[in-house]
Amino acid sequence: MTVFRLPSVDRLLRSPACQPLAERYGREPLLDTLRQLLDELREPARQGQLSEIELSEAMLAGRAGERLDARHRSRIRRVFNLTGTVLHTNLGRALLPEEAIEAVAHAARYPLNLEFDLATGKRGDRDDLIEGLIRELTGAEAVTVVNNNAAAVLLALNSLGARKEGIISRGELIEIGGAFRIPDIMARAGVKLNEIGTTNRTHARDYENAIGPRSGLLMRVHTSNYTVQGFTSSVATAEIAAIADRHQLPLLEDLGSGSLVDLPRWGLPKEPTVQEALRDGADIVTFSGDKLLGGPQAGLIVGHKDLIARIKKNPLKRALRVDKLTLAALEAVLSLYRDPDRLAERLTSLRLLSRPQADIRLQAQRLAPLLAQQLGSAWQVETVDALGMIGSGTQPVARLPSAALCLRPQQSKRLKGRSLRQLEEALRSLPIPVLGRIADDALWLDLRQLDDEAAFLAQLPELAGALA
Ligand SMILES: *Cc1c(COP(=O)(O)O)cnc(C)c1O
Repeated sequence: MTVFRLPSVDRLLRSPACQPLAERYGREPLLDTLRQLLDELREPARQGQLSEIELSEAMLAGRAGERLDARHRSRIRRVFNLTGTVLHTNLGRALLPEEAIEAVAHAARYPLNLEFDLATGKRGDRDDLIEGLIRELTGAEAVTVVNNNAAAVLLALNSLGARKEGIISRGELIEIGGAFRIPDIMARAGVKLNEIGTTNRTHARDYENAIGPRSGLLMRVHTSNYTVQGFTSSVATAEIAAIADRHQLPLLEDLGSGSLVDLPRWGLPKEPTVQEALRDGADIVTFSGDKLLGGPQAGLIVGHKDLIARIKKNPLKRALRVDKLTLAALEAVLSLYRDPDRLAERLTSLRLLSRPQADIRLQAQRLAPLLAQQLGSAWQVETVDALGMIGSGTQPVARLPSAALCLRPQQSKRLKGRSLRQLEEALRSLPIPVLGRIADDALWLDLRQLDDEAAFLAQLPELAGALA
């Protein structure tokens, strides 16, 4: 048995093989990694289990390099979202259009007039930067922007209804997911829930009868993530607004997605717009920035000037406010809405949502043989029509006609489940992980969102290795 000695950490650090690593990662991280590696190898080396090659400077540097690469790789990874769900909350929801990406970079790079009025030279208000645009697009008198729509609802409720009663239909006591439930948010906002009507039916007289000396506000929540069908009845915004008006109480409407455009124009299901809610008499409307609006994560609160002023005075506003990068992206996205004719070309989320099925089918037909070639005979690859979803709880019943690559294992039924999970894992372990969904004994890759075909194809050869 020949026992080869480990090189000293100093010699290894100064070796030519380690120089590129020192340059890329810095001397200290490299030194730490080399020490760790040598510590682990000391015992096996002493027992003669390692060859001369395994203990060579080049080999040790290579292993240190792999560890450093793995440790320094960003934990925030790009993925291919081929799940069929466009605004996928777990995958970051709306993709920003180029204009917004540039605006974010610009705002990150330079000092800006975030809270500074260039006309007067005095302190300004960050909401003012987008107020003009919001007024122009929605007809609202004023706006304030916070971290997300959950924050918008919390802040509006707390500002307008704390220590009073909030009247809301039982049919609208929704859970959005991630522990966002209207009754809980109301409680945290200090608003006493006064639920009226029943799960399936609420009438105008229920609102009338509930109003009393302790009432603080009326609330309407767009039940975005489920539908109640059959013997149902709810009261329209305009009718609740008239009741609220008579009793001089504010009506707060949480729209959730809150589109600014008429979606059927692009073949998508109708969503109530912010303009409609305001026109129907909602005093305050809240909606998300990164759902159908197609912008950054944000919560927009729009409506009457005096109510918005009260909301802005709430100390919670300071805790929930948005940063400059979000505002920059939001302004750029809102600007695109000035030109609805070109919106579907320029606003990434709308472009993806409205992508024609024929176009996706062609892409699937193009890619199917290439994928089949990589997967070999163990897999059947078919181009099939599929149904996707908008996502983020928006229009849960609506389906987006799409096309998918449907990958089916050719084994016996017993082995199918395992093969599918292996393939799913292999796709997830690619340099740009590919995320699909398993249904009906097959793995589906919905191509609605496959923009970067070249990057997808470039990594396919690695799939065979990952599956082996
Ligand atoms: C999505 C949604 C929210 C929460 O919005 P976030 O931007 O995710 O915080 C609140 N209310 C409704 C009706 C929603 O659909």
